[in-house]
Amino acid sequence: VYNFSAGPAVLPEPVLLEVKEELPVYRNLGTSILEISHRSPEYAEIDASAKALLRKLLGLGEEWHVLFLQGGASLQFHQVPLNFLPKDGSADYLITGAWAQKAYKEAKFLGNARVAASSEDRNFSYIPDPSTWELDPKAAYLHFTSNNTIYGTQFQTEPEAEVPLVCDASSDFLSRRITPERYGLIYAGAQKNVGPAGVTVVLIRDDFLQRRNQPLPTMLDYGTHAGKLFNTPPVFAVYIVEKVLRWLEGLGGLPAIEAINDRKAALLYERIDRTDFYRGTAEPGARSKMNVTFRLPTEELEQRFVAEAKQAGLIGLKGHRSVGGLRASIYNACPIEAVEALVSFMDYFEQRYG
Ligand code: PLP
Repeated sequence: VYNFSAGPAVLPEPVLLEVKEELPVYRNLGTSILEISHRSPEYAEIDASAKALLRKLLGLGEEWHVLFLQGGASLQFHQVPLNFLPKDGSADYLITGAWAQKAYKEAKFLGNARVAASSEDRNFSYIPDPSTWELDPKAAYLHFTSNNTIYGTQFQTEPEAEVPLVCDASSDFLSRRITPERYGLIYAGAQKNVGPAGVTVVLIRDDFLQRRNQPLPTMLDYGTHAGKLFNTPPVFAVYIVEKVLRWLEGLGGLPAIEAINDRKAALLYERIDRTDFYRGTAEPGARSKMNVTFRLPTEELEQRFVAEAKQAGLIGLKGHRSVGGLRASIYNACPIEAVEALVSFMDYFEQRYG
């Protein structure tokens, strides 16, 4: 079966096999890694290795804190402004989809959040042109959603801003290279590109961290978690994330996965564009390399496509419930063979029903 789910999503097969091997008994512990203290040397090694791998993959220097938090990206929508939206200041938000809207809503709840640009007028099918953004040079940060999971759009380049970027990278984290210097904070729920649900990766640059509001509730203060294990972390999720990161490093890191992701996306978009039977929903200049959204001539055909694809071993292709249509999520762990199989199925389906 090839899995195109938008999240929780496919994990690399070698990772799952390693977990299967290690699960009842980890190394020579006589017990599994899930049944021992998170302060044991064995877990400390996993935590340190995962953090070191993230630093290496992204080229993060000592000035960056790597945090493994809980609550999903959705809690970050609140925690970011709670920490960084000043009482006497404001923050800018780029509204490019439903997740960005949710982040903005939480910020507005806490203070003065501004919409710097929005693509809601055309159902979030594009990324607003930077020349139209109304940026405030005094904003505490500029928040953006690098990849819009539901609508299949993605920032093709990182936003240019005078202020630190804060990025919800949940659905394209570690799928391509980034320029860390531009960011104050990056967060990502693990369950699409880096692991299972249950852990949220948060990267914070130290000078940005030092600007946070005070006082803050203990658990929601990023300072509580920077550089230490304050409470029990989501050990199982981090244990798997560490393996996914090792797998990614073994492939050749971000330049290698970026090239693979480019090839996968090109194959699929080329198939969509070849005839009028399939219609991509994102504007070509904003197309996501992670979530490829498309439609068929009728909803009835779309339902048939999902059902027959499932019979053929291609699962998770139904579009998000709020927009309908079809969506193939082709995250890092989705092999190119899966995309080739989907393209062949699309050829067959068009021949039969087109
Ligand atoms: N941000 C983006 C871009 C997402 O795709 C999602 C989930 O699909 C979320 C945030 C919400 O993440 P979580 O379920 O971890 O709160």
